[in-house]
Amino acid sequence: MDAAEAKFKESVPEKDHWKTKAPYKVHDPQDHFDVKYEASCHCGKDDINFTHGHHDLEWYDPTSKSIEHQLPCKVRCSFCHSPIMDEGRNMILLFPSLVHLKTDEAKAKFKPRLHMFYEQRVMDIPDGLPKWSGINDDSDLIEDSPPEEVKENERKREQKRKEKFAKGENK
Ligand SMILES: [Zn+2]
Repeated sequence: MDAAEAKFKESVPEKDHWKTKAPYKVHDPQDHFDVKYEASCHCGKDDINFTHGHHDLEWYDPTSKSIEHQLPCKVRCSFCHSPIMDEGRNMILLFPSLVHLKTDEAKAKFKPRLHMFYEQRVMDIPDGLPKWSGINDDSDLIEDSPPEEVKENERKREQKRKEKFAKGENK
């Protein structure tokens, strides 16, 4: 943290300290922040690429029904109310449809690779991608997951089970 940042942090109340941290921190030109993708919400306000900071955003925590910034929360544009992302403690889930993907290479990077918590789905997505019942690599591959990946997952499980058994940790 540089002197200006420390000063700003001092000037805001404790509950607003998140404004000084990513992804809301406003970068100075001398930071040389490497912008890989830009995005905008439906009203087209480019403030939602947080290079402009936290202005014109609103927050909602469905658990506590709070609109204060507290984690985890949902982040929306305060003008058109487009959902922008879910913000967790160490991650964000960004709505990919807002990102301006200019090249095929960029598009390929945002292609879905798997589904998590597919058991709790609200609709079927028969796309042949791996579908984990819970978190990926730590649950079952279900529905139309690729058969070779299902086999591989079973093989890994059996391997883990054997290792545990050898260590006498099997239950
Ligand atoms: Zn908007």
